[in-house]
Amino acid sequence: MAILGCTGSVGSQALDVVAEHGTRFQCALLAAHRSADALARAAEQHRPAAVCLTGCDAAPSGLPSATRFHAGAGGLIAALEETAPDVVLNAITGAAGLAASEWTLRTGRTLALANKESLVVAGEYLMALAAKSGARILPVDSEHCAVFQCLDGESPRAIRRIWLTGSGGPFRNRSLDTFASITPAEALRHPTWTMGPRITIGSATMMNKAFEVLEAHWLFGLPAEAIQVVIHPQSIVHSMVEFVDGSMLAQCGVPDMRVPILFCLGYPERLPSAFQPFDPVRWRNLEFLPFEPARYPAVPLAYDVLRAGRDAGAVLNAADEVATAAFLDGRIPFPAITATTATILAGRQPRRITSLRDVLDADAEGRRLAELATAAASPVPTPRTDPS
Ligand code: MG
Repeated sequence: MAILGCTGSVGSQALDVVAEHGTRFQCALLAAHRSADALARAAEQHRPAAVCLTGCDAAPSGLPSATRFHAGAGGLIAALEETAPDVVLNAITGAAGLAASEWTLRTGRTLALANKESLVVAGEYLMALAAKSGARILPVDSEHCAVFQCLDGESPRAIRRIWLTGSGGPFRNRSLDTFASITPAEALRHPTWTMGPRITIGSATMMNKAFEVLEAHWLFGLPAEAIQVVIHPQSIVHSMVEFVDGSMLAQCGVPDMRVPILFCLGYPERLPSAFQPFDPVRWRNLEFLPFEPARYPAVPLAYDVLRAGRDAGAVLNAADEVATAAFLDGRIPFPAITATTATILAGRQPRRITSLRDVLDADAEGRRLAELATAAASPVPTPRTDPS
């Protein structure tokens, strides 16, 4: 297999899973962006045929002598060609993961997908590639992995809708009129999952859930009205499927990404593991709360993007990535992350996607518009500290 983004949150947990299962898995390729030392340590342990750093040119020191080094975005595709893995675990962050997903699906391999942005920016294009080549996509994203497991062996006609659960993030109970004073440090504190900064901010705005609505639409071929979001603060029920006969199936577990990672890597087998199971007595009070659109305006935006189609998803992702960075830099207030993205989408006519080039053009345009919008924003005043 190839593990792309192997020094990030999902990637390093995937390496833990691989290490736990000894010779069951063989790492052919490990890739990271700029974390050279961590990549060298992973290579030392897992002895891949090749490694790649997409964000710098120099080979990390301490690479095993038999491991070939590749650099840059082009080097990643060359390394995939050279090592020809059966399974590609794509745990790259953001639209940068698209090219590797495209390669994997075009060449008919199995894509264990943690890079949800691939489907957000180019869902229609990638699903068509997969249909043509016979490639399989296994969702690593915990909600989609849950839905995938609940749908096993079911006919598409049997599904009434799916329920994607979301913890609601750190601001589920915060008064709406104080949202303008939310600091990056507050937004980076997620109640149940430990993840990278982009997805953690995306959990606070629920833009991450918006992406997951789009991801579910493409993965499972469901229309917008069959995808429901519900707040579930404990993050034990990872998602649910409602069937036409009134049955509901849910997949449960403690929030641990190694569970969906192991599911995808072992598929179709279930491999034994020492993970702590979900204890129903300890978690006897599971809550489900209605989703509040005013608190999380990013989620309604996903349904607008579904209706608009074409390249709207690529613009959504690009604008959110830039606006999130602007918030983390203290250039825009928290509510402006989603507001900026919404304004950009509303002011633009979506265009057709027929190639990867079209996706990259839409991405560049979304980024440029968001840079303009966030540069023009006045600096954020220092928020007063809440005595509570
Ligand atoms: Mg998720």
